[in-house]
Amino acid sequence: MTHRGGFEGLDSCVHCGFCLQACPTFLATGDESDSPRGRIELMRALETGELAAADPGVALHLDRCLGCRGCEPVCPSGVSYGRGLEAARALLTEHRGVPPLVRAALGALTGADVSRVVYAVARLVRATGIPGGLAGWGRFRFAMGMLAATKPKVGGGRWRSVKVRGGTSPNLHQPPPTSTSSPVLLFRGCVMEGLFSHVHDATIRTLQVNGYAVREVPAQVCCGALHAHAGLRDEARRLARMNVAAFGDDDTPIVVNSAGCGAMLKEYGHLVDGSADGERFVGRVRDVSELLAERGPRPGAPLDVTVVYDPPCHLLHAQRIAEPPERMLGAIPVLRVVSTPDAAQCCGSAGLFTLLEPAMSRAVLAPKLASLAEVRPQVVATGNPGCLMQLGAGLAAAGIPAAVRHPVELLDESYRAAGYYA
Ligand code: SF4
Ligand code: SF4
Repeated sequence: MTHRGGFEGLDSCVHCGFCLQACPTFLATGDESDSPRGRIELMRALETGELAAADPGVALHLDRCLGCRGCEPVCPSGVSYGRGLEAARALLTEHRGVPPLVRAALGALTGADVSRVVYAVARLVRATGIPGGLAGWGRFRFAMGMLAATKPKVGGGRWRSVKVRGGTSPNLHQPPPTSTSSPVLLFRGCVMEGLFSHVHDATIRTLQVNGYAVREVPAQVCCGALHAHAGLRDEARRLARMNVAAFGDDDTPIVVNSAGCGAMLKEYGHLVDGSADGERFVGRVRDVSELLAERGPRPGAPLDVTVVYDPPCHLLHAQRIAEPPERMLGAIPVLRVVSTPDAAQCCGSAGLFTLLEPAMSRAVLAPKLASLAEVRPQVVATGNPGCLMQLGAGLAAAGIPAAVRHPVELLDESYRAAGYYA
């Protein structure tokens, strides 16, 4: 069998067009070449050599793809669009190299030593509160809004608008983990560890309340998602092998609270040459919402708050996880989840896309902000760092007074109010 490196997943496309209305870039431009069907034709032509990697049209339309995979669940033929896109981007990268901005962003966000400094500086700047004041439209101001959106809010800022109805729950103090708690290993990631360590803390606490004992894996590295999306498959493969080795070969579940990282970790079987080690690793990867939903999760104290849940594409489309986050929010009495018509559409974050393709990114974000402006929730909940930053920056720029939270933060706050952490 000829190994076609991911392009074979595109062969089942029958050009029906069912995917067009699920594609945010097609909805933004109306151009067939910005649709999944059009891009599949471009990718096939790239594979066969009918179109060259140097063809500017190919690069333009493939660069403008979010990689959100919103086209996959609606496809009746089961086209593996995401794998085809990564194969095509690897060919483009072979031809044109890695753009300096991409290389710089990868180094800053995922480089072992550089990123430590970058995140430390970012946290210092964030602590001044200045980014929140500068948030707005335009590249710099949007970036400031993204940084401001990473700030822990428990006990401060907009979080005060969430009223806990005291005294309505018994004290459900949870004893520390025991030998009967189920062990799980935490995947920490890069952006999550650098800017969202408070979400890791909430993950550990809420899992503990539900009978899990979280263990650390010090030798883990970046999941490689940003590298794979940039066409750097060899670098992604190297990182995948390091993670497979770091997490060992037993059956302990690996818990992830970043949808983008989780989707990438679940690709390791394919990325690490379909090896048994890679496949076994994939079988252990669980989103935090899946683990919590398996245990109920245990109910917390009421939070009087209106929430829009915005599912990350890499949770809903790539991992097909829809119900578990809603069950997490359902464990919080009084909390109201309000739906918006375009919740399943991408927010335009898409890894580095928001930095590299700002015009398309904002065009994709615009209808979602319009829906949120109508609903006016107090909180927009989503389980991915890029989405939290993109939505937070967009809400601030549009003047919509809603906070962004990871769903596990809301459950954590509810558990805190219930006395689980007393
Ligand atoms: S990708 Fe799927 S839904 Fe889209 S045109 Fe091809 S077969 Fe139809
Ligand atoms: S991955 Fe997203 S942006 Fe790209 S073609 Fe599919 S639906 Fe459209």
